[in-house]
Amino acid sequence: MSNLDLRFEPAQMPAGTEALRAEVRAFLADMRARGIYQLGPAGWAEVNRPFCIELGKRGWLGMTWPKKYGGHERSAMERYVVTEELLANGAPIRALQAADRQNGPLILHYGTEWQKQTFLPQFASGEASCAIGLSEPDSGSDLAGIRTRAVRVEGGWKVNGRKVWTSSAHYSQYMTLLARTGENGGERHAGMTRFLIDLSWPGIIIRPIYHMTGEYDFNEVIYDDVFVPDSMLIGEVDQAWKQLTMELAHERSSPDRWTAQLHVLANLLDELDEGDDRLAMQSVGRLVSHLWTLRNMSASVAGMLGRGLSPSIEASIVKDLGTHYEQDIPHVARLLVDEGERAALPEDNDLTRILKYNLLFAPALTIRGGTREMLRNNIARGLGLR
Ligand SMILES: Cc1cc2nc3c(=O)[nH]c(=O)nc-3n(C[C@H](O)[C@H](O)[C@H](O)COP(=O)(O)OP(=O)(O)OC[C@H]3O[C@@H](n4cnc5c(N)ncnc54)[C@H](O)[C@@H]3O)c2cc1C
Repeated sequence: MSNLDLRFEPAQMPAGTEALRAEVRAFLADMRARGIYQLGPAGWAEVNRPFCIELGKRGWLGMTWPKKYGGHERSAMERYVVTEELLANGAPIRALQAADRQNGPLILHYGTEWQKQTFLPQFASGEASCAIGLSEPDSGSDLAGIRTRAVRVEGGWKVNGRKVWTSSAHYSQYMTLLARTGENGGERHAGMTRFLIDLSWPGIIIRPIYHMTGEYDFNEVIYDDVFVPDSMLIGEVDQAWKQLTMELAHERSSPDRWTAQLHVLANLLDELDEGDDRLAMQSVGRLVSHLWTLRNMSASVAGMLGRGLSPSIEASIVKDLGTHYEQDIPHVARLLVDEGERAALPEDNDLTRILKYNLLFAPALTIRGGTREMLRNNIARGLGLR
């Protein structure tokens, strides 16, 4: 029987949100004026530690976390607005997003008091990055198939195995690792545990995997007899799958999962300002109206997360529609630039540079954080349709 219980309640923006938005915009303009960051083709994906630290000083990392862990006790919607502005302005927040978006909340929900006091302040200051180690060579979509194993030893665990596509591991201090610790006993997702790993520990080898764009952003991470002390276990032994549900709702709904191409749209709008091409106006009008709808859906999910709900189906819908939309932006821009009245833009034009990069990066958008097919499987299952 189907269960069509989908909720996208309108998000309530707290008082003062627009003032906060203006504050973030002014801060970003100042950062650019001082040369701390430049608008580049990769937008948010550039690694810029000084910028991350400035952001931490402003209190715009770990915004919703308790003050005693370095957070700022602000609302989920305030965090949403800050993230939205950072991405729309191409701010280089890549190095801290995984920690701020999902590893921090994971530790906050399931970590020990020691873990919260030790690691959350490092994430909230912008000084430490934390990669996510889920995917393996033969199991990306189907995490139940992971083979990296942690075996109990005196005082902790010994880990052997291999992770792939681990974004940011080459410059991160930490990584959250999903490892098999027990047998699944017939239940596919049982017997997995999450650990926090210090990437400087002996036995860890990090090798580059290159993107189609030519950049080095993700890795193969090999664990060769790595000792992990008990103090670094997150949550309960063999219960990582339950913990992942909450984490993936954070991952899939966050605006950074579908707004990485907004700076392409902003540049396209600048370019089109100078013409009155009706086809262009129609195409861009369509993109902007979709943006508005998606933005309201995504803000609604953020509001639900802020109220302690776990809207995993709604989050999957936002990510599926949002990443599809993200892929449309550079394609529409390319059609308008190549075939519209603005044919033959100069090579050094901002939009040309941004498009070259983003057309090559776009295929990754519907793979990272859960492929399109897997999201649709989840949605269908959640609605009782399969
Ligand atoms: C830019 C980028 C960054 C990433 N960063 C990280 C990271 O930091 N940490 C991390 O752990 N992983 C990361 N990943 C990995 C990503 O999460 C996986 O690539 C993804 O889950 C898919 O797994 P896979 O590559 O093994 O493909 P597969 O799971 O082998 O899938 C291959 C194809 O088969 C389809 N498919 C698989 N199973 C089914 C099914 N049951 N029903 C229908 N279709 C199915 C998939 O949709 C896909 O089209 C990243 C990926 C990218 C592209």
